[in-house]
Amino acid sequence: MREYELSREFAEKMDKQDALASLRDYFYTKPGQIYMDGNSLGLCSKGAEAAVARTVADWKEHGIGIWTGAETNYFLYHDVIGARIAKLINADPEEVTVCANTTLNIHQVVATFWKPTKERYKIVIDELNFPTDRYAVVSQVASRGMDPDDVVKVVKSRDGKTLAEEDMIAAMTDDVALVLLPSVLYRSSQLLPLEKLAKAAHEKGILIGFDLCHSIGNVDHDFKKIDCDFALWCNYKYLSGGPGAPAGLYINKKHFNKKVGLAGWWGNRKDTQFELRDEFENAQNAGGWQTGTGAALSLSAIDGALEIYDKAEIKDLREKSLDLTAYMMFLIDHELMSYGFTVGNPREDSGRGGHVALEHADAIRINEALKAADVVPDFRYPDVIRLAPVPQYTRYVDVYDLIVRIKEIMDTKAYEKYENKAGTVA
Ligand SMILES: *Cc1c(COP(=O)(O)O)cnc(C)c1O
Repeated sequence: MREYELSREFAEKMDKQDALASLRDYFYTKPGQIYMDGNSLGLCSKGAEAAVARTVADWKEHGIGIWTGAETNYFLYHDVIGARIAKLINADPEEVTVCANTTLNIHQVVATFWKPTKERYKIVIDELNFPTDRYAVVSQVASRGMDPDDVVKVVKSRDGKTLAEEDMIAAMTDDVALVLLPSVLYRSSQLLPLEKLAKAAHEKGILIGFDLCHSIGNVDHDFKKIDCDFALWCNYKYLSGGPGAPAGLYINKKHFNKKVGLAGWWGNRKDTQFELRDEFENAQNAGGWQTGTGAALSLSAIDGALEIYDKAEIKDLREKSLDLTAYMMFLIDHELMSYGFTVGNPREDSGRGGHVALEHADAIRINEALKAADVVPDFRYPDVIRLAPVPQYTRYVDVYDLIVRIKEIMDTKAYEKYENKAGTVA
């Protein structure tokens, strides 16, 4: 790990030496604002804006011809974008597609991969995952007339923040058919050992997949090594694909011949799709798991946002991300501990994602005071302020200034005038 220093000059020096510093110009940032919420919604980039404008222009110009025109061909857009995202996780281009949303893609993978038998029917999830993942799994089970209390096995956390590797592996018993776990926990930022988990599951004949919502576009996963069965994620967090961007779906190529759980005509073989046959025949790639017509305008925002990954390698972005969060923890340790803050995320590089989980008994009110001080953090129950210095557009001085603003709020007790209640979108 690098040696850090406490002065602002040090942060300025780090920015001068930062080979990725110019990427920031590609995003719409606000003077004076410290944006620490790119793990909830990444900022708008010039690439995304231009790509959406181009799709609008194509629509204006071509009408229905937008789908299959030689110049436009939005018919295959989801797979084109999928192939670009595949590079970020070292998957094959045809193993990734973009469709629906994360929640629906969970429904899709459970419908496809969960084949309960009398002996092997349980689904392992964890108690710390984002609730929609659990809702989707439970409702899939119920919709097939089975009892979620019996089927869904929830791995417990020992400390309420993280998951122990041995607990996740111990849950993979002979009656388990499927495992769905997050890559990075949305609250504590813990990065799970995906490769080990996948290996353990496969040794026991269990199918396993991951929710990459808090790592896609930030952590340089190697899916050739992880070799899980499926994965899904949203594209509007670190990837900056725009609010409500269609989600990502990875299907390991060994499963392309599987029967699609939730079938739709957009997933049909592309060469026969418009013959509108009675029988569905899925495309032999991840695109086979498409359902209905692709959201071309929204897809274009992702397309434009992905240009950043042509300008910078994901592994270099991950390295800067780790450096920014390590620097933030260094400053927290030196400047904020006396105010009752603690760091809730794992500290080692191999065990943390892209955000710092800053904990405090008054987190709700401090979070409100930070917003008033032109910082954009977010709050998660019960006591976590999430701070994500997204490497694409966060400077070292932003991290430095963030800590100064938190310190000011604590010194002046500015947070005391806020209610102890979180807003609708915290
Ligand atoms: C952000 C997030 C979601 C969001 O799901 P949507 O269907 O896009 O609303 C789901 N799961 C996890 C783990 C997330 O972090």
